Amino acid sequence: MTQEKKLAIIMLGAPGSGKGTQSEYLEKNTGFKRFVMSDLIKKELQPGTELHRQIFKEGVLLEDKQIFEIFRKHFDGTRNVIIDGLPRTLDQAYWLYGFLMNHHYEIELVFLNVDEKKLVQRITSRYYCPLCHKGYNTLVLPPKVAGKCDDDGEILIQREDDTKETFVDRLQTFDEVKEVILDVYKGDITEVNGDEEIEKVSQNMLRQIIMRK
Ligand SMILES: [Zn+2]
Repeated sequence: MTQEKKLAIIMLGAPGSGKGTQSEYLEKNTGFKRFVMSDLIKKELQPGTELHRQIFKEGVLLEDKQIFEIFRKHFDGTRNVIIDGLPRTLDQAYWLYGFLMNHHYEIELVFLNVDEKKLVQRITSRYYCPLCHKGYNTLVLPPKVAGKCDDDGEILIQREDDTKETFVDRLQTFDEVKEVILDVYKGDITEVNGDEEIEKVSQNMLRQIIMRK
């Protein structure tokens, strides 16, 4: 029996690179089913479950084994897919590769490449009002009075993930693992310039994927 060809697109991009937005765009324009690892984990971590207790009460991190279990449970392997948020480690990269091969997938890793200096600038200039939740960006959408909300004068703050210290940390973690993931998937990589406008990045990405297949 011959297997029908199926394609698995794996999205890879730094935090803040727009990976989520781009994978949504791909889903809309290809009809591929999207698997967002963080969404699957949230579904599994319903209050009252053992896993939920471990993660939220004991602060335990999910092991690769648990991540694979969750992914396997939701993945039926019958159609073209987009995978977002997996892999994040070398072991996960190997596991996913083997898993997809066993399920007769062709694999394409889409690497959203962005200028990290610009990325740090853009992300760490994000602020919001803790009172009305209005968002600001000191580079492109600054408040009228520096540091204060236009609507209620409240002092603007940053999300923990957007502070320079935290963000640069997350970026470094990504950079280290990025190299090993790219190595595992070499030969099956589509690199997309992520520094342009969202719409342009989307169109380039789609065109490049279609060209390769
Ligand atoms: Zn406000």
